[in-house]
Amino acid sequence: MNYPFSNQIMRSFQPDTHLASSLSGYVYREEQVKLAGEIAACMESGGQLLAEAETGTGKTLAYLVPALRSDLKVLISTHTKALQDQLMFRDIPAVQEALGIKRGIALLKGRSNYLCPHRLEKKLTDATLEKWARKSLLKVLKWGETSLDGDLSGLSFNPFAKGLGGMFTATAEQCLGGKCPAFSRCPLFKARQAAQSADVVVSNHSLLLADAELKSGEFGEVLPVFDCTIVDEAHSIPELACRHFGRQIGLNRLTGWANDIQALLTEFGDEEALTKDIDRQFLKVLQAYMDDNLKATLVAWQPLISQVESRRQRNEDAGKIADRALGIAADMQSMIEPAEGFVAWHEGSGKHARHLLAPVETGPVLVEKLWSRPCSFILSSATLRISENFTYMQERLGLNDAQTVFHPSPFDYSSQAMIYAPRHIPAPNEPNYEAILFGEMEALIRASSGRAFVLFTSHQMLRRIAPRLADNLPWPVLVQDESGSKDLILQQFRKDTHSILCGTRSFWEGVDVPGEALSLVIIDKIPFAPPDDRLLQARRKRCEEKGGNGFFDIQLPEAIAALRQGAGRLIRSQDDHGVIAILDSRLYRKSYGRIVAKNLPSAPKTEDIADIQRFFTVYP
Ligand code: SF4
Repeated sequence: MNYPFSNQIMRSFQPDTHLASSLSGYVYREEQVKLAGEIAACMESGGQLLAEAETGTGKTLAYLVPALRSDLKVLISTHTKALQDQLMFRDIPAVQEALGIKRGIALLKGRSNYLCPHRLEKKLTDATLEKWARKSLLKVLKWGETSLDGDLSGLSFNPFAKGLGGMFTATAEQCLGGKCPAFSRCPLFKARQAAQSADVVVSNHSLLLADAELKSGEFGEVLPVFDCTIVDEAHSIPELACRHFGRQIGLNRLTGWANDIQALLTEFGDEEALTKDIDRQFLKVLQAYMDDNLKATLVAWQPLISQVESRRQRNEDAGKIADRALGIAADMQSMIEPAEGFVAWHEGSGKHARHLLAPVETGPVLVEKLWSRPCSFILSSATLRISENFTYMQERLGLNDAQTVFHPSPFDYSSQAMIYAPRHIPAPNEPNYEAILFGEMEALIRASSGRAFVLFTSHQMLRRIAPRLADNLPWPVLVQDESGSKDLILQQFRKDTHSILCGTRSFWEGVDVPGEALSLVIIDKIPFAPPDDRLLQARRKRCEEKGGNGFFDIQLPEAIAALRQGAGRLIRSQDDHGVIAILDSRLYRKSYGRIVAKNLPSAPKTEDIADIQRFFTVYP
């Protein structure tokens, strides 16, 4: 088929073009040009494309050029805030300038990023508000009067760290929408209006999925209608879809509702009897919830519904609170008796209990709510394939008929990297496991002089090994949940070249540390999900009912996808050199070990630590 737009886009990457001469740091990359052409053709044909573009292909530029040169309305959705900021404040302005074009660009974030003036002003009328909190809220009020966009990242402090954020942001459940008295000055709705009139909107997967869920529920919409949606970091969509198309009940949601109804009744000033009744009834709800009895919680919840229903007509807020009570009851009911295709479970207990409901298979839900829209979809990531095959991800996404393309990394792993995978590591249940694991980690980190990521598959092992590394090594050891927020830890890690970062799952992906600060990635185990993961169990069961193999078709591909993400942290540029160490002898002992090994970067492998020591003398 002939795609004139695609041909035009591919031509614009040639070395003699304006883009090539004006974009700082531009280098001609064949795989990038091919990918840009495929993306442009997909935009032209209104199709669906799954593109695995390995690190270094330059996929951002490959989709930005067609997105900015087309006259379609385009959404670019990312998983991480880091990529969102990079697109908005660095890449899009640079590419627009290099192309000499000026399309309207808007950034749209999730609700919790914007000031809700209605809730802030109401909270300030609450006489029971503590003095320190009132002082902070007054600061927010003052800031809100001059802020251009009400984006809370402009505040000089993090309101969520102080537990104040919920007082001046509105969840979808709390927001009054068009009936809100502060609607005309609402930053969230102004941001949505800006997105309506923009040509290209940068947003995130949470918003994309929330929009899909809301549109199908007929409650309104979050995002405008697009001609083309580009989903970067697309490997994270299935996991996020489980959360968005499922339900959650936690103590926060219940107490948040109780606080809001009590504040409203106080505001009415003439509801003393009802206030006492609701207080009494809510105590029964709490008791049942703490006993981990969801059925009893729902029974105790029912009278609260009648109590708030009786005041529904008093004002908009009362109506909204009654709706929320109904919504909470409906969600509890859906967890007690999950509908066909859903699984319910709970995590933690007492006040830490969380009840969850999720679709067992995300593919059909995504087809129904997202991919069936009249819009072209381009999904891109560095890791979409398992054993060089897209089938697993296509099924997870529900994109079985999408076109698939693969673009290899321009990096030369055979000279830039080495894989260390010793076979003598005992099984984790053997008594000397931890000592040997620690010894290996220490020797590796000494060889690389720090500059290491140590990625653990469990918090327990992180807590046991990280302090010992800190005691034994001469370089700073940064530990997840102990050395500050994720951003702060990464900042420190980049700044202190020889530091060591110990973390679990949240550091396995979306982390970019090019250069010598990261020269060694140690992975303690093949990252299988814990066997008691209820969603995974349900997915395995469903797979076996269909005649598949739960381990090989579900659990193993999940672990390989996570491992590929973890290993992908190492080589981020043509000048990077480094070692990936996988300290799990199941690579040799188990039949699936060979499949896992096949999915690692194509670097030379060794079992001899002396090779690693030599590697780091060549690339100190
Ligand atoms: S419309 Fe919603 S988010 Fe905006 S001010 Fe009103 S309640 Fe807050």
